Amino acid sequence: MLSTHPAEEIEDAVADIMPKLRGAFSTVVMTEDRVVAFRDPAGIRPLVLGRIGDDYCVASESCAFDIMGAEYMREIEPGEVVTLVPGGIRTRMAVEGVRKSFCLFEYIYFARPDSRMGGTVLQAARGRMGEILAREAPAEADLVIAVPDSGTPAARGYARASGLPQDDGFVKNRYVARTFIQPGDDLRQHGLRMKFNPLPEIVSGKRLVVVDDSIVRGNTTRQIVQMLRDAGASEVHLRISAPPIRHPCHFGIDMPTREEMAAHEKTVDQIAADIGADSLAYLSLEGVYEAVGGERATHCDACFTGEYPVNGGVSDTGKYLLESADSTITA
Ligand code: SF4
Repeated sequence: MLSTHPAEEIEDAVADIMPKLRGAFSTVVMTEDRVVAFRDPAGIRPLVLGRIGDDYCVASESCAFDIMGAEYMREIEPGEVVTLVPGGIRTRMAVEGVRKSFCLFEYIYFARPDSRMGGTVLQAARGRMGEILAREAPAEADLVIAVPDSGTPAARGYARASGLPQDDGFVKNRYVARTFIQPGDDLRQHGLRMKFNPLPEIVSGKRLVVVDDSIVRGNTTRQIVQMLRDAGASEVHLRISAPPIRHPCHFGIDMPTREEMAAHEKTVDQIAADIGADSLAYLSLEGVYEAVGGERATHCDACFTGEYPVNGGVSDTGKYLLESADSTITA
């Protein structure tokens, strides 16, 4: 749409097409003499502006600025178009007045812990999720361990708030990619065996609280519980620093279908039985918002609640809802 648009200036073309697009997009376009960055009017995905010397830069997460020695300035606003030119920026709002719907799962899982979002560094927000989880779902246990690295900040928070000791129950092989995004069950299971090695000397004979940030399909979690039992753990109490995921994402995150999700049409007790845990508890939605210091009115939490903020709140459809041609472009 941009490349065939008749406007003389690229920003005019962007401003014209943005209201016609639905869904999540944080986009950077480079022309011969400028860089144009724009963020969808609901602000579902992050997009941030930084400065390096006299020049400006954009990134999806602020941790990129730390790596390149740039200074974080601010988030690019939902519906904003920012043009980077030598020594400066130009900015305009292409679309205003749309309900803001920042992805709640960015705080919980997607974004790097050293990124800042909504005024908080995520490592600290995830630690608070663990503290609130300990308050909401205490456990009679001897030791708190994390599923590394995804559960590490929340496990620390859980241990801090509960007064239980914390240790590393697993050593993680850092050369294996995240299991969540690998396609196919076989590859995922193989990936998991290569990824975690439980330490019997730490977990044997112990009643464990095992903290992770989410359960998606449940296969990974089931194997983790089994690995800990094989290593001698006497009890495994799972604590998850997010609510159950029951609905697909329409906004660019490749989640499994509803039927493949561990929490699909199941109670928490049924999920615990499926996974083989002695107990299971999830952080409440209110607990997540308390930890991030945000409110529902400006976020998307549809994968937990089924209430989609964009496209009429449809929950009965698959993850490709916005990928059909007639719903992606509305004019
Ligand atoms: S459905 Fe879930 S993962 Fe997708 S944008 Fe909303 S909160 Fe984020």
